[in-house]
Amino acid sequence: MQTPADLIDETYDVLVAGAGVTGICAALAAARQGARTVLLEPRPFIGGNAATGLCIHTFKTKDGRQVVRGLAQEIVDALVEQGGAVGHVPLPEGYVHSVTPVDADLFRMQTTAMLAHAGVTILYNTALVDADMRQDSIERVLVCSKSKLGYLKARVFVDATGDADLALRAQAPVRTGWSGSGAMQPVSMMMRVVSVDTRRACQALSEHPPAWATKRGESEPIPVYFHGTFTRWNGVLRELGIYDHDDHQFWTNTVWPDQLNFNGSRLAHIDGSDPIALSRATVALTEQLHKLGAFLRAHVPGFEHASFIPNAFVGVRETRNVRGLYELDESDIRAGRRFDDAIGQGCFPVDIHHPDGKKQEHIDIGGDGAYDIPYRALVPQNVRNLLVAGRCISVSEYANGATRNMAPCMTTGEAAGVAAALCSATATPCAELPMARLQPALVQAGAYLGEVVRA
Ligand SMILES: Cc1cc2nc3c(=O)[nH]c(=O)nc-3n(C[C@H](O)[C@H](O)[C@H](O)COP(=O)(O)OP(=O)(O)OC[C@H]3O[C@@H](n4cnc5c(N)ncnc54)[C@H](O)[C@@H]3O)c2cc1C
Repeated sequence: MQTPADLIDETYDVLVAGAGVTGICAALAAARQGARTVLLEPRPFIGGNAATGLCIHTFKTKDGRQVVRGLAQEIVDALVEQGGAVGHVPLPEGYVHSVTPVDADLFRMQTTAMLAHAGVTILYNTALVDADMRQDSIERVLVCSKSKLGYLKARVFVDATGDADLALRAQAPVRTGWSGSGAMQPVSMMMRVVSVDTRRACQALSEHPPAWATKRGESEPIPVYFHGTFTRWNGVLRELGIYDHDDHQFWTNTVWPDQLNFNGSRLAHIDGSDPIALSRATVALTEQLHKLGAFLRAHVPGFEHASFIPNAFVGVRETRNVRGLYELDESDIRAGRRFDDAIGQGCFPVDIHHPDGKKQEHIDIGGDGAYDIPYRALVPQNVRNLLVAGRCISVSEYANGATRNMAPCMTTGEAAGVAAALCSATATPCAELPMARLQPALVQAGAYLGEVVRA
């Protein structure tokens, strides 16, 4: 049996585990602060769930005020230039008021280039498996790269794994699933549809006014986002055995006139942090989407000549959330609450896919339509040199229905990256980082912290 040695013989300033939207922003932000930064990703590509073909939700409040800026906006701007995005498009009806579809491959290419340009070391095919602690600090992490175990050392760590894998290994307290039951929102697999007539498909399927946009340099608007239910086809879908319930909801987005990203599959009672359950779900959802494609081709106008490509991996909505110095909860979102230690704002409402897989629930944000995200929700209890960002920050089950979306994930990722770099440079425990240092650094980096301008 091999004894693990240092995988790379140096101590990084900041180590970011997980290269979804959160980890990408965290690593970029840390490196731009001058931190020597390493980013770990078990898959051979970055993007995480953003690699599956999803709209970024959401930059603007119901009144059209933009509260998410910083790196998230910089990435969208770069994608608009390349034809990989159409900016923020108003959605006339729905629980979300503006949508930001992006092409997943162009997103991956753009952010890979940005990370390389910022000097981030990206380690693909490398998963974090354990943490070596010295008292209440992480000294090094054990990683599994291709057929090799090894250690990586850093001064400050950011858990952007979505599953709070690093926080768990560092013995920070975490909540797994819903308190009491441990239930988790269902998992889904996205599907890419090519050679589809998106206008006719939208006409046939959309039950609400779609979001239309015209790409830079083009003249024809395309339906970049629409949603609805399959209620009209309940009978045939039941016969085909695709779902275990009626009135299934779906969402589509695109930046191309002849392609759609289709969010229309679902499987309940899967623990997304369990590799065995996820493997089972991968097989089941690939089959569900194979059947859904055949149904769409046979029954829905616009799909007659389409091809259907289920994504390579399962999208996970929730697993673990760290217990931090503050737990953002439903009442904070309902009130549109303000915090002195805000590191950014969220404006996506609570969106809960119930663990039974059969229904969905939305809760609007109160106040002016945005809530502050406090720094303390990124700081786990009991570990001095760890920050948590993205899907697994310290939030209640319901608040997670808001913060798990990509715009807030990018906001917390950027904030964690800047904070980690500052903590590393000044040997400050994460819990003790003064807001008088962090907030101006975030503002200078282009982030928006809400109405209180912290100078
Ligand atoms: C079906 C579905 C539809 C959705 N629709 C939308 C939508 O329309 N708009 C929207 O904004 N949001 C949507 N979301 C939510 C959103 O996509 C995710 O919550 C968000 O992308 C999470 O980002 P993340 O970077 O925190 O986590 P992830 O995207 O999960 O990234 C985590 C990364 O960490 C890596 N990782 C995991 N474990 C380890 C480890 N041990 N060591 C190192 N790396 C590790 C993973 O490989 C992954 O790349 C949807 C989610 C699902 C499942």
